[in-house]
Amino acid sequence: GANDAGWNLDNSYARLPQSFYTRMKPAPVRAPQLSVLNDPVAAALGLDADALRTETGVAVFAGNEIPEGAAPLAQAYAGNQFGYFNMLGDGRALLIGEQITPQGERFDIQLKGSGATPYSRNGDGRAALGPMLREHIISEAMHAFGIPTTRSLAVVTTGQSIIRESELPGAILTRVAASHLRVGTFQFAAAKGNVDELRELADYTIERHYPELAGAENSYLGLLQGVIKRQAKLISQWMLVGFIHGVMNTDNMTISGETIDYGPCAFMDAYSLSTVFSSIDREGRYAYGNQPKMAVWNLARFAETLLSLLHKDEEQAVKLAEEELGKFAELYHGHWLAGMRAKLGLFGEEAADETLIEDLLRMMQQQGADYTNTFRALTFNRLDEIVMSCSSDFAQWLERWQARLGRQQESPEAVQQLMRSCNPAVIPRNHRLEEALAAAEQRGDYSVMEQLLAVLANPFAHTPEQEAYAQLPEQGGRPYRTYCGT
Ligand code: AMP
Ligand code: MG
Ligand code: MG
Repeated sequence: GANDAGWNLDNSYARLPQSFYTRMKPAPVRAPQLSVLNDPVAAALGLDADALRTETGVAVFAGNEIPEGAAPLAQAYAGNQFGYFNMLGDGRALLIGEQITPQGERFDIQLKGSGATPYSRNGDGRAALGPMLREHIISEAMHAFGIPTTRSLAVVTTGQSIIRESELPGAILTRVAASHLRVGTFQFAAAKGNVDELRELADYTIERHYPELAGAENSYLGLLQGVIKRQAKLISQWMLVGFIHGVMNTDNMTISGETIDYGPCAFMDAYSLSTVFSSIDREGRYAYGNQPKMAVWNLARFAETLLSLLHKDEEQAVKLAEEELGKFAELYHGHWLAGMRAKLGLFGEEAADETLIEDLLRMMQQQGADYTNTFRALTFNRLDEIVMSCSSDFAQWLERWQARLGRQQESPEAVQQLMRSCNPAVIPRNHRLEEALAAAEQRGDYSVMEQLLAVLANPFAHTPEQEAYAQLPEQGGRPYRTYCGT
């Protein structure tokens, strides 16, 4: 049966108040076929990859078979979408259960694209192959960068087409997450107005993600602090690697601190704070440089949901929340500055480091320098590859940088070692992603994707193989656009 693969599911979420979810089974699909199985993730979950590849194994990923012990449900949540508050919920996903690993860890197993739910609104509950493979590739890349992220265990095609602007092959992604608790989950509970249920959600969240807070004097304040801390770190990691999430709505911000929802996200090529890829983000709300600000905005929405738990006096509660929200900027900035120092090989701290960093970034923005490749060129002292290399401003900057490096004790080897370890050779370049997706979708050829995944698995390796993947796309094309809702 399906459990031969090692499914060992619990359903703690299903023990929360009933208003938080709708129990239901996935809608079966016609002819499921495995496109991708993530062997390392399967192993980490205590699952047998060979058993997962069998017909019964694949039937679970398709929603055609439910493992024993599963209690599938669609989660309810709310969210501010581009600012506007809506009641939402899993419109095309079902939580199958929580896999308890042999090490005793708990991971949500969610089918994304598994059919309509009571929260689907006008959607069909389905997903297309291309975007699910895209999520697989980008989440793998994020993991390899060391950035907290949901993972993908498998992608299956359904044998059914879905209707978008054209007919597309349908697919289901099996997503693995520390949990799917979001800021929007708390907004949902707060909007319902039942304080007991809200407290139950908060206690559940603390037990699951912040167990060290259990029994603390004000564990709800601790929860707010913890989420702010994790998000400050996470957003700094996005910024340092040039990741643009694209749809930082409050329903897409996790409480666990993992990156979630790889819809219109993309990696920046030329450094620019105003970079936007998403076709629907017309005002640049979620532009590269806005991400820290939007994170605080989302966290403020989170804090609002907790007010009734923070203090019995509302004024006091607001004061506590504002105090914590006020710490985000400094926390974020500290992580970002430390990360930037490392990208430039700077050990220790000098007061002028930040100006040195800002001056470089300003030149990069003015000259449209490629973000990843500029830091890579600095790492290997290949200055001719840097577009600003002819300018006298850059020559002066190089002198300042060299002087700063000269004032530290560490050897040039140690400096390069540090720079290599935090300046990736490769990112999932948009043209490479598209090429891999086109081969898989149009020709059923997964080899291009496999090669891309292999290179992205070691982003700091700097091998000759990776050089090819560091190439920029040919110039002159239309600006790259990403789409959500497919
Ligand atoms: P997102 O912008 O991807 O975070 O999605 C926002 C909301 O739209 C969530 O409630 C999703 O479940 C829902 N949604 C997205 N695509 C579909 C679809 N094809 N069918 C039903 N609901 C969807
Ligand atoms: Mg979402
Ligand atoms: Mg999405």
